[in-house]
Amino acid sequence: MKTFCRFFVLFTVLLSQSGLWAGHADRKENFWQQNVRKIHFDLHTSAKETELGKNFDPAHFAEQLKKSGTQAVVFFARGGNGFAYHPSKFNSPHPQLKTDLYGDVSRELHQRGLHVIAYFNIAPLCEADAKKHPDWVTVDAKGSSDDSRSNDFWEDSVVCPSSRYWEDSLIPQMAEIANNYPVDAFWMDSHYNFFSAPCYCERCRKLYGKDIPVDRNDPNWRSYYKHLQELVWDKMNLVSKAVHEMNPEYVLGSDWVGGGMWAYPAPDGFDFNTGDIRFNNGPLNAALALAVWSWRDKPVDINMQREYWWQEFNTRSIYDIQREFAVTLASCGTFMLGDVLRPFDMRIEDEKVRFYRDAFGGTAKMEKVVSGATPYADIAILVSPEQQRMLGKKWSVLSPDAARADPFYGTYTAVVEAGMTAHILFDADLKVNLTRYKTLVIPELKYIGSEAANAIEAYVKEGGGLVLIGGLPAVLDADENWSKARASDYSFFEKLAGIRVKGWFDYKKTFFSAEGTKLQAIWPEDVYRLPVGIWGTATQASLEEASMLAPIAAPGRIVQGGLPMGEILDNPAFSVNSYKKGKVYFAAQPLASQYWERGWRGLSCALQAIIEESAGDLYAMRHGGSMVQFFVTEKDHETAFHLVSYMSDMRTNAPRTLQKPVTISGPSIEVNTTRTIKSIHATNSSAPIDFKRKGNKITIIAPPFRIWESLVVHWN
Ligand SMILES: [Zn+2]
Repeated sequence: MKTFCRFFVLFTVLLSQSGLWAGHADRKENFWQQNVRKIHFDLHTSAKETELGKNFDPAHFAEQLKKSGTQAVVFFARGGNGFAYHPSKFNSPHPQLKTDLYGDVSRELHQRGLHVIAYFNIAPLCEADAKKHPDWVTVDAKGSSDDSRSNDFWEDSVVCPSSRYWEDSLIPQMAEIANNYPVDAFWMDSHYNFFSAPCYCERCRKLYGKDIPVDRNDPNWRSYYKHLQELVWDKMNLVSKAVHEMNPEYVLGSDWVGGGMWAYPAPDGFDFNTGDIRFNNGPLNAALALAVWSWRDKPVDINMQREYWWQEFNTRSIYDIQREFAVTLASCGTFMLGDVLRPFDMRIEDEKVRFYRDAFGGTAKMEKVVSGATPYADIAILVSPEQQRMLGKKWSVLSPDAARADPFYGTYTAVVEAGMTAHILFDADLKVNLTRYKTLVIPELKYIGSEAANAIEAYVKEGGGLVLIGGLPAVLDADENWSKARASDYSFFEKLAGIRVKGWFDYKKTFFSAEGTKLQAIWPEDVYRLPVGIWGTATQASLEEASMLAPIAAPGRIVQGGLPMGEILDNPAFSVNSYKKGKVYFAAQPLASQYWERGWRGLSCALQAIIEESAGDLYAMRHGGSMVQFFVTEKDHETAFHLVSYMSDMRTNAPRTLQKPVTISGPSIEVNTTRTIKSIHATNSSAPIDFKRKGNKITIIAPPFRIWESLVVHWN
């Protein structure tokens, strides 16, 4: 695999230089990729639920799903309260289970030609099992059994990840499913509990070999999380090995493992990536999760709910779902429609079937366009687990809080709104994958591992672009001994950026203005060259080899209770440095996190201008209004440019719903290539497509569309 990757990188670089980028060729064609339309049902039931499956009609259930257009159904084998949904020797069945639910459902679905995916919620332990196996239960920092999850509904305990639970309960229960029932795949959930409530038991302490951190500010969190991640990944690989020994055709994955909030690639043994997207900002959240996963060698699905998040019994706008599905397909993902069952009848009404059909149907034509294609992006954005932890997320799987300043979301949003294409990479990805991209953006990261830092330097030396936002990271491995001196040694990236870090400004707000500076040359006409104020701590740097693009300015004296721009300082707000064949852009202010928090135009404009400039000639870019997301997929001699309706400024927790779509006109696509067009057509419109060529630049005018349009170009 390693040899293949190296060969592949070289191959890709050659192709991208000749304008013939062929995508990455090693995507696994497994069950997950072949079954594009899946449905998942939540059916968490506590011990208090007395009517589980009471009036259930499995034949009607399966019949309704057959009509819905789905190909595969996720159904509970082990629920979120730790109970089995079938008779099991290795995991206590739900105390009120009236019938063999998993058995009845899986048989009825298979009889109708539908696939079955067994759902396993892996972290909780029901009360009965916790009593039987006290050494499987997580212990809190004070040494008592952790009941942090206990409330009226979740009365279960969390499994200790280093216990024998995996070998003695989870894997044997999966074998029961494999031996006794129809099953095509295994879908796991809730591993994030291992990270949000670490276990302090004797065994876990011994395995780590040091004191497990308790205080949020303990510098050993990085090292402990790395250890824990490796432990949990090892256990998941153990599960994967066992499942593939049961049947090599089975596929297995787990919700959010290897996602943006975790920033480590999923365990090798997994066959797909998967994640449920929060409703409040669906199209952006879906695109962002897919930007992490879509380019990898494993299939990915995005799970969107019929409702406004799980267990919120309100139906969303069909246009929102169709738009999220369009984003998913345009990123070469497959989709999963999420819904919730009422435990007492689990009935699927005719009107729900109509909803499912329309949800899947809205993008049916795009399924053919992207079948066998791979996603392309010009820009790479780096995210690290440390960044997410420092934002206070404890590596939560959930999307960021609306108001929380998140540099990762800020950068991605600015790139999307500019009409550029981006993928998201982790530290561990850079060595092999960075050369696929024209530039790398590092948004306000505090630390970068040494292998990743070396990969970045090699990439810039060979002509890659680099954008450092909000300061410079220190080079520090997660398991390296933390010291203040090492954590504030910026010399590695100082050399690349051609600047010296002096410290941080005391001001709570700093400014810059493009007027009369070199930044003006890349500043768009419709954004006025007036002072831009940025809240938060700015880096105080001095120029060494780098040249100034725009200086930073201090705040002036308070007027009307507010802070206007004051004195212009000698320090850069923006600088650029030539390092060997590459260019390194530096921005001193926290533009990315502040853009996410505030949505101000001056901030996105600055981000967009330096990112675009750092990339040189982009392969493809969407021009025209910002209300369109843009994606590119590649096949042999064929490129598809996908446009999907988008709503900007979606940072609040309230849903921004597309109640009824308008017709969008005006976007055009600029493609930089030496190839010539043989034919071009739109997927939703039969109108002839207008395009112009000037040198290596082709401009394609998109026809009007509502939710999405895919323009397919066949090259000579
Ligand atoms: Zn433990």
